Amino acid sequence: MTPVPGVSLGFGRQSSSPEPAACPCGGGAYGSCCGRLIAGEQLAVTAEQLMRSRYSAFTLGASDTKAIEHLLRTHPETGQTAAARRKALKESCRNLQWLSLKVLDCQNGSPLDQYGTVTFEARWRDRDRREGVLRECSRFGRGASGEWLYLEALSLGDGPADRKPPQSPSTTPP
Ligand SMILES: [Zn+2]
Repeated sequence: MTPVPGVSLGFGRQSSSPEPAACPCGGGAYGSCCGRLIAGEQLAVTAEQLMRSRYSAFTLGASDTKAIEHLLRTHPETGQTAAARRKALKESCRNLQWLSLKVLDCQNGSPLDQYGTVTFEARWRDRDRREGVLRECSRFGRGASGEWLYLEALSLGDGPADRKPPQSPSTTPP
C-alpha cells in the first residue's frame, strides 16, 4: 500500500484515491461491481465476473496495488516469481491504457460449473497513442478452494462453443 516514489501514475488519478466511481468494465458503480472483488472482499461467482474484474484491474493497475494483487492471485502461473510477475504486470498497466470492454460470449462458467470461457473485445491505447482491439477467448477454472481462476487464452479459431471444457477436476491444468 506504500506509494512508490518517482512513479508516474498516469490517467490523471490521485494515488490517495485511485478508485473510480464508475466501474471500468461498464457494469455499474465500481464499489458494487468489480471493486469488491479487486479489494479481496468477495469472490467472483461466475467466470464472467472474474473476467470483468481482471479487465478492471488492468485499467487500474498503474496506480492501484490491490489491482495488481488481484491479477496475481486470480491467475496461477508457475516458473516466475511473484515479484517478477508483479513487475511485469505493473509495466503492462503503465504502458497500455484500456479504454472499454465488450463481452461477446460466455460458455459455462456459472456458479455450478467447474470451467467456463468468456470471449471479449477490449480496446486499448499505448503510450504512442496507437489504438487497437484485443479479441480473446479466456478460459477459467476452479482453484483449490473452489474460487474462479483465469487459466489461459484460447485461440479464437478453435471456437469455444465446439470445444467443451473437461468436467473432471483431475484434468485441471497444473
Ligand atoms: Zn465491473
